[in-house]
Order: sequence, then C-alpha cells, then structure tokens
Amino acid sequence: MSTFDVEHFRKDFPILNREVYGKPLVYFDNGATTQKPTCVLDTISRFYNSINSNIHRGVHKLSDESTQEYEKAREVVRSFINARKTSEVIFTSGTTASVNLVAFSFGEVFVHAGDEVIVSEMEHHSDIVPWQLLCERKGATLKVLPFDDNGVLKVDELERLISDKTRIVAVAHVSNTLGTINPIADIVAIAHSHNIPVLVDGAQGIKEGVDVQKLDVDFYAFSGHKIYGPTGIGVLYGKERWLSDMVPWQSGGDMISSVTFRKTTFNELPFKFEAGTSNYIGAAGLATALNYYKSVGVETATAYENELLQYATKKLLAIDGVRIIGNAPSKAAIISFVLNGIHPYDTGTILDKLGVAVRTGNHCSQPVIDHFKLNGTVRASLAFYNTFQEIDRLVEAIERVKEMFS
Ligand code: PMP
Repeated sequence: MSTFDVEHFRKDFPILNREVYGKPLVYFDNGATTQKPTCVLDTISRFYNSINSNIHRGVHKLSDESTQEYEKAREVVRSFINARKTSEVIFTSGTTASVNLVAFSFGEVFVHAGDEVIVSEMEHHSDIVPWQLLCERKGATLKVLPFDDNGVLKVDELERLISDKTRIVAVAHVSNTLGTINPIADIVAIAHSHNIPVLVDGAQGIKEGVDVQKLDVDFYAFSGHKIYGPTGIGVLYGKERWLSDMVPWQSGGDMISSVTFRKTTFNELPFKFEAGTSNYIGAAGLATALNYYKSVGVETATAYENELLQYATKKLLAIDGVRIIGNAPSKAAIISFVLNGIHPYDTGTILDKLGVAVRTGNHCSQPVIDHFKLNGTVRASLAFYNTFQEIDRLVEAIERVKEMFS
C-alpha cells in the first residue's frame, strides 16, 4: 500500500469536505478542472484585499506591487517548466487561448497556401479547430497522425506524413480522453530532423512535470485551473526564435510600444502577446498553485496517482460489462470506460446521485469517440487528493447502475 499521506493533503482542499445528495463528495472530474488548495484561495483574496491595482502602467505603490507580483509569477512559471527566459513565458487565459494564439500568430507568418499542418487523432477540439480555421484561411491542409486501438499514437507514421510542405506539428502531451502519455521527445526529434516546430497541448500533461528545454518543444500550452490554480489564467511557452518573428494576435494595451494614427510599434516579448489588462491576480494564484504542487512533490504526486490508476483499472476490469477505452502502456490517471448496454450519460447521472462526480460524453475530443464507434464514455480523472476508498465508492456505484439497468 501507498506511503503517500493523502489525508494530510486533503485538508488543504476545503471543497473535498462537502457532501452531494447527503453523501461525501467523490470528485473524479479533475481532467475538466482541479480543486484549489486554501493557499491559492488566500493569494487571490490577499491580492484583492491589499494589493489590487492595474499592472505596468501606474506610478503609485499599489501598481508597482501588483506588477512585481505578476512578474514574480512569471518567474515561478519559468522555473516550473524550466524555460530559458521569462520572455518566453506568455500569460494567456488558458490552453485554448494559447493554441489559438500560435495558430494565428505563427500561422500568419509561416503557413501559406498549399502548406500542411499535422495534428494527432487524439487531440482535444482546442488543438484541432484553431488549426482547421488556419488551414481554411490560408488554403492549407490539415493532416492527422492516427492512434491504434489501445490509444497509442502511431509515431512511426509521422515520417510518412511529414512533407516539405509541413509547417508545424501539434500534439497533446496527455490525452484527456484516453489518458495516453505521448512520447513528446520522440515526436520532437522526428519533426526537428525536418526543421519543423512542435506545439504541445499540455492541458493534461503539465501535472506530470515538464522540462521544456529537455523536451525541446517549440511551444507548450497549459491552463492554470487544471493544475490547482485559478480559472482564466494559462500559459504559452514559446521559443524566442519563433515568438520574435510571429505577429501579434490580439492588440491594444500592454502589447503596444507606441501608437500614432500612421503606425503602431509593439512591445518586446513577452508583452507583445499580452494585450489589454492581463489576469495578474490569476497569475499570482497560479504561481501559488505551482509552488504548492512543488511542495507536495510533482514526482511523488504522480507516482501516487499512478498507484490509484493501477488500482482503479484492476477494480473496473473485474466488473462484468466494463470496457476501458485507452489502454496505452504509458498512461496518466485518466480512465475512460463504457458499460455494456448502458448509455454513458445514464451511468454518469446515476453515479452523480451516488455522490461520485465523473464526466460523460465526447470530452471535447469527438474524433477519439468516433475512432471507437461509441456515443461517448464515462471518464474518471484522478488527482493526488483522491483515495483508494473513493475508487471503491466508484466501483460500488457502478454495480448499482448495473443493478438498476438489469
Ligand atoms: N486540451 C486538452 C487536452 C484538455 O484536456 C483541455 C481541457 N479539457 C483543453 C485543451 C482546453 O483547456 P481550457 O478549456 O482550459 O482552455
């Protein structure tokens, strides 16, 4: 059994104490968003209560303090992902905004009629549609790297898909539906051997721990709310070599250097990509979340989540009629499953009434669901504050669902 002191860490998350329908909450929807520790909530309230003022433009004390907190947060992110410089860390509203930024700003400069963009078959809609729109705008073609029936990307096929027209490869670090952890370093090595940059959608992968220099990714996108931070804040890491040649995405506010009616010049990196008033309080909350996660221990937390995953997989497979969708050897703690003859929505609704929060449907990755010719799955996505007992509650609840439908 695990030596991870989960009860100690659960105390940091007040929401885990609540009940739903008179039953203790089992929160297995961490892939959609994670819960927030008290320290993150405290940072947000401390900021509003004692520091709040708009960043970068004020001469007064509060504005100076706000700006310092914001830039300190950037340094915390830089260090967490081991980026070379803070100028390569852009605050956005989340993964979706980060991918859209690259699809537009990189696409405007580097993608032209007849060019090609490669995405994988297991992408979230947020890492498909921005590229699709780019391709439509430019007259380019979207190509798809497939996965096999276990949910493993067919990385060998990347060589075949790449041509002298390929301009970028976009791939998830971890699939939010299948749980697959993709071999990013291998994908990057293949793409780079053809001088093609790689964008990694790290919405689910950031929790696994990331070193952007070691992985040598060109872009890495993630959301604060999926790593114990607030909503409405996210990050785009980009190599300076690309960012400096990219055109702005949104314009106005902090991204400006000078404006006349004849011509506008843009601020230096990273501000060139931070239009308007940034979510500076969200950034401070994210910094607290990353520091908190580091204090738990990224490796320790993911090792414990892996124990939970193994336990849950074994228990679920022992239930007659359960089929797990996504059986890659390298998986994060995300389990999609279907129950024979029972619609995922019905399963999810009954699990909810029994106090177990899961997600059902296509999980914003419809091509994954289409691959398996399903109408959706039930997804239990775990975090380090979940317990083996909670998995037992899920298993009991699934047995109840089966009884009700038998
Ligand atoms: N990509 C993946 C793999 C995700 O899981 C999600 C969130 N479900 C997103 C992108 C989008 O993240 P956000 O809604 O925070 O922009």
